[in-house]
Amino acid sequence: MKKQKKTRPRWGLMGGSFDPIHYGHLLAAQAAARHCSLSQVIFIPTGNPPHKPIGLTAPAGNRYEMTLLATGDNPLFQVSDLESARVGYSYTFDTLTYFRNHYPQTELFFITGADAILDIHTWKNGDILTEMCHFIAISRPGFDLAKLEALPRRQRERIIPICISPIAISSTEIRESIAAGRDVSQWTPKPVLTYIQSHGLYQHRAEDMPPATVD
Ligand code: ATP
Ligand code: MG
Repeated sequence: MKKQKKTRPRWGLMGGSFDPIHYGHLLAAQAAARHCSLSQVIFIPTGNPPHKPIGLTAPAGNRYEMTLLATGDNPLFQVSDLESARVGYSYTFDTLTYFRNHYPQTELFFITGADAILDIHTWKNGDILTEMCHFIAISRPGFDLAKLEALPRRQRERIIPICISPIAISSTEIRESIAAGRDVSQWTPKPVLTYIQSHGLYQHRAEDMPPATVD
């Protein structure tokens, strides 16, 4: 009898502040799942970043709930509160360590946009992150995937670049549009819009906020 090759489950991990989550995130995750045959993508909203003015960025609990609402109808998508339930900021290194320790049989793929991956050398333990799991770099308008060539070869070889139809939207733009009273309904699913309205999120413009305090 032919010996069957055992395949390990392949999971995508999508980190981000998701402040708020939008179609750019959802389509990037979907494209990564299709391209790399992932059995699930786990969205991991960050905890509250230190020193950000309250009111400008939504609290971690709200960002986690909006991520749940945006992903609820897709059986491929899961949401983890690993980072958002913690006080303070978590590093990708710590999150990857957690998943590697708890799910050693799983092949992990960390999904990022091109803008984020180009900064990888500034992340905690950035030089060894690409040895901890695969990285998927999704094209994003304004960020050239060809710039990945500048990374050391050892790192570059662990990164899987994926080109998707450009979705020129960012959470920053959504927050600014809401504060300016503009319609954002084409950028994020309806339940997220309803949540933003009912919780009164993103009503303030960045320039109207007091400066961040540094202690
Ligand atoms: P902000 O403007 O607040 O930085 P954002 O839209 O960049 O928000 P993040 O939560 O910072 O969203 O991003 C999470 C991940 O999703 C990052 O890896 C980012 O590069 C990626 N991403 C965000 N928007 C897009 C998009 N439109 N196309 C492809 N990738 C995206
Ligand atoms: Mg961003």
